[in-house]
Amino acid sequence: MSDTQFDVIVIGAGPGGYVAAIRAAQLGLKTAIVEEKHLGGICLNWGCIPTKALLSGAAVAQQLKHAGQFGFTVASVDFDIQQLVQHSRKVSSQLVQGIGQLLKKNQVTVFTARAQFIGKEQLEVTDVDGKKQQISAPHIIVATGAKAANLAQIPVDGQHVWSYKEALIPEELPKSLLVVGSGAIGSEFASLYQDLGCQVTLVDIAKQILPSEDLEVAKYVQKQFEQQGMQVLTDAAVQKIEIVQGQVHCHVETSSEVKVIIVDKVLSAIGVRPNSQNLGLEALGIEFENGFIKVDQWCKTNVVGVYAIGDVAGAPCLAHKASHEAILCVEKIAGVANVHALDRTQIPGCIFTHPQVASIGLTEQKAKAAGLNVNIGKFPLQANGKALALGETAGFVKTIFDQKTGELLGAHMVGHEVTEHIQGFAIAKYLEATDESLAQVIFPHPTLSEAMHESVLSAMQRAIHI
Ligand SMILES: Cc1cc2nc3c(=O)[nH]c(=O)nc-3n(C[C@H](O)[C@H](O)[C@H](O)COP(=O)(O)OP(=O)(O)OC[C@H]3O[C@@H](n4cnc5c(N)ncnc54)[C@H](O)[C@@H]3O)c2cc1C
Repeated sequence: MSDTQFDVIVIGAGPGGYVAAIRAAQLGLKTAIVEEKHLGGICLNWGCIPTKALLSGAAVAQQLKHAGQFGFTVASVDFDIQQLVQHSRKVSSQLVQGIGQLLKKNQVTVFTARAQFIGKEQLEVTDVDGKKQQISAPHIIVATGAKAANLAQIPVDGQHVWSYKEALIPEELPKSLLVVGSGAIGSEFASLYQDLGCQVTLVDIAKQILPSEDLEVAKYVQKQFEQQGMQVLTDAAVQKIEIVQGQVHCHVETSSEVKVIIVDKVLSAIGVRPNSQNLGLEALGIEFENGFIKVDQWCKTNVVGVYAIGDVAGAPCLAHKASHEAILCVEKIAGVANVHALDRTQIPGCIFTHPQVASIGLTEQKAKAAGLNVNIGKFPLQANGKALALGETAGFVKTIFDQKTGELLGAHMVGHEVTEHIQGFAIAKYLEATDESLAQVIFPHPTLSEAMHESVLSAMQRAIHI
């Protein structure tokens, strides 16, 4: 095989693309990956990882604030946001380097270039100097991700109006910030900046914050945000913004009035749109759905030999969904036996706000709308010994079971480190656990996870500690 002919080529090196390339190489396929900007994609460079590094700083701020209950007097605290940003960038670049090494170790050929289809099995790759070459493979996986969506009335200028990129590398902590959009990204930044000492206003056009989450969870988190001093406006739309003497005047229409909120910065976090254009996909006759590449359960497009995974292939736009699709797509290409199609009900979602939110499966509203009769269990962290010991009593665990079969339909958690614990319910759901089987599981004491057990017991009217 020549240097430009491969078994598999992957476009984009995010958690979809680089995982696909490594798995393909592991399976003995001659593999290339084409990445125009940065190995690791949005996730490692401008998404999951750098946000969590900043949020770790916000958690320290909270620990200092509440140090008194453990006997510590914190006389004065200096905070330099530049050092926190440096920590975040360092973590990011360390991981990005690691991806380079992994690709090398697995003998994946890396093209630092922009890729475009010029035929069904053929790509033209153009590097930063404009040098072009053609490469080809019978299997080409598009993993080009997504970018921030914009609203015409809130134009991002990078200075007064930020996208998530600017919010990750602020020069200084703004005194006030208005976040438009309360999905995972918007809410995480709102929580981060509020915890660091900024006055945050969170605005969403939806009737609840965290619009994909269970209503009870969303209401609880809103209350927590408000108790922390955040202003939360739901059912509210930013009509227009004006820059006046270096500040942003935001005209926000609520159900009762139009008010002008004046802030230092605005963060536009209204969602993402797929990077599905300028790839030559239209000429191939690829089908799209709202701009996302349409795929079947094996991530195949309507054109044989062309596949799409990750954000560009549709919601939920999550790194672990991208990586999961990467593996099943490549294993199917390689003819591995027993590959399982993606079951979207099995994808956990984590939101790293303060308090954290984690969920899997159906919300109460969706279960009921589907006509299911459900048993619902709920257990507050206030009644959990470990939560009290940690001084982290905000939150609860809610579990939803099918009344007839006892099947776990959904689990919704708010509170300290619930993003670590949701995996327990993810495994349970994958193994088709029922309330009866989960009730038999022994949870260690004293742990926050006992609240998960108690929630299950509560659904069976058998909770011990409430
Ligand atoms: C602020 C923020 C926080 C987030 N936090 C989380 C989180 O906590 N957990 C979570 O699961 N998800 C999170 N996400 C979402 C997560 O980052 C994405 O779901 C994930 O990165 C998608 O992976 P991907 O491989 O599909 O695409 P991406 O990571 O977007 O990678 C696509 C890559 O393709 C490259 N590319 C595009 N076009 C071309 C081309 N023509 N030629 C060559 N290369 C190209 C791009 O440069 C990019 O590197 C977050 C996102 C943001 C913005």
